[in-house]
Amino acid sequence: MSSTPATSARATRVAAYAAPAPKAPLERITVPRRPVGEHDVLIEIKYAGICHSDIHQVRDGWGEGSYPMVPGHEIAGVVTEAGSGVTKYAVGDRVGVGCFVDSCRECEACLAGQEQHCTAGATFTYNSTDRHGDSTYGGYSTHIVVDENYAVRIPDALALDVAAPLLCAGITLYSPLVHWKAGPGKKVAIVGLGGLGHMGVKIAAALGAEVTVLSQSLRKREDGLRLGAAHYYATADEATFTELAGRFDLIVSTVSAPLPLDKYLGLLKLDGALVNVGAPEEPVSLNLFSVINGRKTLAGSMIGGIAETQEMLDFCAAHGLGADIETIRADEVNEAYERVLASDVRYRFVIDAATI
Ligand code: NAP
Ligand code: ZN
Repeated sequence: MSSTPATSARATRVAAYAAPAPKAPLERITVPRRPVGEHDVLIEIKYAGICHSDIHQVRDGWGEGSYPMVPGHEIAGVVTEAGSGVTKYAVGDRVGVGCFVDSCRECEACLAGQEQHCTAGATFTYNSTDRHGDSTYGGYSTHIVVDENYAVRIPDALALDVAAPLLCAGITLYSPLVHWKAGPGKKVAIVGLGGLGHMGVKIAAALGAEVTVLSQSLRKREDGLRLGAAHYYATADEATFTELAGRFDLIVSTVSAPLPLDKYLGLLKLDGALVNVGAPEEPVSLNLFSVINGRKTLAGSMIGGIAETQEMLDFCAAHGLGADIETIRADEVNEAYERVLASDVRYRFVIDAATI
């Protein structure tokens, strides 16, 4: 791994893995990191998780991709330099960076701690343009410079490798589960047992809900029960939809492909909610009678704010919840992408940044 970059008034270049063009394999390059400003910390990245969103974006599935693209928004590392005005962190602190690195800090959403919904547009960790007009590059890299207000503290009880995926997968499930009040007496279904889904099972169970996994097959059933689910059903089996009709208070879908919404809405009780966090590349269709009958809610949710991300990390530390990971070398990233696309991940790939 390259040594800590010399920090001065100049930007430095650091090693990273990037897609040079849409759908092209990722390869090693260098990218600029800005000088450490008054309120910035320089973070030596130790681990970076691979989120399915990285694959959607690298392949330009959501459109408006900017290349070369360095993905990675599940970053865990250590502070190696702090700007003169930094108060939250010191050199040696274990920190994380998630999906965004700045926001306007003034709009209603920012003031409500929902910076990811900043009305001026949050600056995303990669594939985005920062407030100085520069491209952002993500966590498949050796170092990153971030404003201290957009970093979170990783509690000592969590190892950095299993903490990295919490920065996206963890918060993306924690936020809706808390918002829609998953807890004792509530029946919660998690659709899709991948990176997001496996954290959803762990967190919903730790919140006290009765958790059901709805997976395409029964292939990962033992894992689902070990992670905290009480029940596990295969969605390829049509009988599942008859047996579970009207069962759930809350369903959270993490499926990366379009979901047949009407079928899943049929699994909700009166006043139940189906919350989509999965972000498929194509639109979905809906028969509105699926929500009219039973006064149901169809909603979406996107990651979580900074304070809520810290709350999630503290919750996970208190409950001993890290991600189940498979650690890979950086040069294995393209192979790992293929396995994610084939739903063959148990349950998050994490890049060891020392191999970049
Ligand atoms: P992942 O690890 O690939 O997990 C997705 C799971 O969905 C798969 O493991 C599979 O589970 C199931 N699945 C995949 N294709 C399916 C299909 N055609 N039909 C039914 N089920 C299918 O991906 P992830 O990293 O958890 O991300 C999931 C989605 O969430 C992606 O679209 C990603 O972009 C999005 N995302 C959204 C947010 C947000 O803030 N809203 C944040 C992060 C990610 P089974 O094998 O169990 O069926
Ligand atoms: Zn993500």
